[in-house]
Amino acid sequence: MSDPFLVVGGGPAGLSAAHALAAAGESVVLVEKTGILGGAPIHSGYSKLVPTGEWAKDAIGSMVSRVVGNDRIEVITDEVVQSFDGSPCNFTATLRGGRRINTKAAILCTGFTHFDSVNKPEWGFGRFPDVVTTTQVEQMISGGHGVRRPSNGEPPKRVAILLCVGSRDRQIGREWCSKICCTVSAKMAMEIREELPDCHVYIYYMDIRTFGLYEEVYWNSQEEQKVKYIKARIAEVTSDGDKVIVKGEDTLVKRPITIPFDMVVHAIGMDPNVDNMTIASVFGIDLHHWGYLKRENTYGVMGGTSREGVYVAGAAIGPETIDDSIGQGAGAAMSALGMVKGLVPA
Ligand SMILES: Cc1cc2nc3c(=O)[nH]c(=O)nc-3n(C[C@H](O)[C@H](O)[C@H](O)COP(=O)(O)OP(=O)(O)OC[C@H]3O[C@@H](n4cnc5c(N)ncnc54)[C@H](O)[C@@H]3O)c2cc1C
Ligand code: SF4
Repeated sequence: MSDPFLVVGGGPAGLSAAHALAAAGESVVLVEKTGILGGAPIHSGYSKLVPTGEWAKDAIGSMVSRVVGNDRIEVITDEVVQSFDGSPCNFTATLRGGRRINTKAAILCTGFTHFDSVNKPEWGFGRFPDVVTTTQVEQMISGGHGVRRPSNGEPPKRVAILLCVGSRDRQIGREWCSKICCTVSAKMAMEIREELPDCHVYIYYMDIRTFGLYEEVYWNSQEEQKVKYIKARIAEVTSDGDKVIVKGEDTLVKRPITIPFDMVVHAIGMDPNVDNMTIASVFGIDLHHWGYLKRENTYGVMGGTSREGVYVAGAAIGPETIDDSIGQGAGAAMSALGMVKGLVPA
């Protein structure tokens, strides 16, 4: 039997790459660092996904099932690749546990790391219990307990969602836009309003970037659920012991604001995977100057990197949506297959 393809990372991109190769009749070894496949939507317990409104556990769960149930795909969990040597069509990957895998090509789908809001201390996370992140609210909703104030378990009557937390912020070294958080926040605001119709939800923004068809979520949030959008510069989040207080400037009317809320939600961004330095060194590929895995030859080889025979896809290369990550996973898989068959450059 010929050597398998190696897919590293079992999130949407990796599941898609593995499935595409298996569908083309190839064998695959998928190596996932954690004990569970599905990537961020499963590990972080996302609720309903944009744009489809499907529950993450169902949508991504079905991607996991078709990979786990495929006898052309071997899944290895709780493992990482420690070294990777050789040349295209003839690589050897050595896992941390010592197992060696001969492989024709590798597709890195190692994803991102959620921004840790403690790195934005003036916005109150970690100091006040009712300052939470979008991932925590996703978990409240997907866990079926509803949106509640962590301080007292009560449903909030006023919620502020602050955009661009850990994105577009040069002061803390995060210059990129995380691409999906405006849309996720608009969706989340609607979910809160549906569950708690008496709760007022405000979104504080610099710009709204609900790109492409996602603009529909923006309009629906205002027209159907009366979510209010305020263009502002937030200076700090404090507390009076009960309410959390958002302070800053309304940049449309150019007036200072000091507004009490029951809950403040940080729309956290997508940092480069904390493992990226190690991954780049193990696989001998370049990093983008912001710390993501770097793509090369963007218009020639889908998912190509600085090393022939090693490909990248999904949020490993920068903030991405799930459907783009799935598309890139399948695209990188086809690049790898074409290279092995001698049809396209490495
Ligand atoms: C709060 C929030 C909500 C979101 N909601 C949506 C939404 O509704 N719709 C949407 O389109 N997008 C959404 N996104 C974006 C979505 O999370 C990403 O598009 C998606 O997770 C990217 O998939 P991926 O497979 O590239 O990476 P990931 O999901 O990050 O998966 C990477 C996988 O690789 C594994 N891994 C990491 N390092 C290694 C290693 N060294 N070796 C082996 N395995 C490794 C990880 O454990 C993980 O399983 C949201 C993002 C955030 C922050
Ligand atoms: S998608 Fe929206 S919230 Fe996210 S970083 Fe870009 S502008 Fe900010």
